[in-house]
Amino acid sequence: MIFKTIAAIAAAASLVAAPVAAQAPAKLVTALVGGNVVAIDGGAPIRDATVLIEGDRIAQVGPSSSITVPAGAKVVPMQGKWLVPGLMNMHVHFGLKLPGAAGNALVNETDAEQALRMADNARRSLLAGVTTVRLTAEDHGNDFALKRAIEAGQTDGPRIESAGELIVPTGGHGFLEADGPAEFSKAARTQIKRGASWIKIAISGGISDTHGSISAAPMTDAELSTLIEVAHRNGVKVTAHNGSTEAAKQALKYGIDCFEHGYHLDQDILKEMKAKGVWLVPTIVVSQPGAYEFYRKIGSPDWYLDRVASTGKDHWAMLQNAIRMGVNIALGTDQFPFEPNGGTTATVAEAELYVKAGMTPLQALQAATIQPAKMLGLDKDVGRIKPGQYADIVAVAADPTADIAALRGISFVMKGGTVYRDDSDPALVAQ
Ligand SMILES: [Zn+2]
Repeated sequence: MIFKTIAAIAAAASLVAAPVAAQAPAKLVTALVGGNVVAIDGGAPIRDATVLIEGDRIAQVGPSSSITVPAGAKVVPMQGKWLVPGLMNMHVHFGLKLPGAAGNALVNETDAEQALRMADNARRSLLAGVTTVRLTAEDHGNDFALKRAIEAGQTDGPRIESAGELIVPTGGHGFLEADGPAEFSKAARTQIKRGASWIKIAISGGISDTHGSISAAPMTDAELSTLIEVAHRNGVKVTAHNGSTEAAKQALKYGIDCFEHGYHLDQDILKEMKAKGVWLVPTIVVSQPGAYEFYRKIGSPDWYLDRVASTGKDHWAMLQNAIRMGVNIALGTDQFPFEPNGGTTATVAEAELYVKAGMTPLQALQAATIQPAKMLGLDKDVGRIKPGQYADIVAVAADPTADIAALRGISFVMKGGTVYRDDSDPALVAQ
């Protein structure tokens, strides 16, 4: 009886309230007021700006004097802050396990345990200012479960594009082994069926392998060309873990879209990449001294540290060449986006290294925002602070186009119009 009475009252109240509700704004309106909006495509910033957000998208951006904040809008003061698009990290493994003590402790991890660990890593990445990631190899479809959970609002994390499982020839740098064109086709189609928007293959060995060679090219022409054809016929791009010039030549011939790491790529390969618009995701942080502390922390064996150091020199020279030659570069770390590195996060350390290797601060900021958006084909939705885009916005204390190290001072993170971190609001301070 009590329930019936409450229901009846609620029904009556909603009838009375209906005309009022119809006049109220349909979507939550948020105004970020008084900050400086960085011009991500170059040019002068908008100083003392207002960014008006309706629901999950940006409605208006301009000088505060030109924008009327509607009554009832939630106002977030941004005076003295610089607003940049949410950062994007294009080489992430939320389920990452590396050789060493920390990785050894995870050998018996179940899928359920891994999914929960991945969710924690996703949340921490978002709080570090990373609003979009591309996952470049996860296990058993756990990444797609996580993506759906984030989209359904069940857990917090960045927008996810994923390549699903890493496909390799038997004995290659990964776990989903395939041999011959038919098996590669099946493996690629299986990932696409699960929701992959990329396919990741390993066309050479990796730093962490105990067998094979980084400079070998173990896939046959038939395997490689068929896999790329299958992906492209499904509107899915293909990226390759690759450190080998020989394997790079072969993959470029068959229309590869992107290379990860590129440790030993020579200038001829970089020139062809530039000409064909092929992307490079450098992950330079993993081979440079800032990461040594991390490898020691996770208990990496000596042979691994030696390989990192020797690969690091070629990797750095390759990155300098790629920047000088104007190869398309999208930021990726191969460490957790929030992983401490060089006194900041891996994501920010990666951007700083791009500047050290020859980019302007603006170019490095673009490599962390609009360039990945273009690479993903999502630049209509993310990558810029402009009307129509998702309200994925990060605030820092200084102008990152003057000094990229300003990204160390992230104090505010919004994704899709929701504030996930605001250090001036203690309830939302990142943990
Ligand atoms: Zn990786």
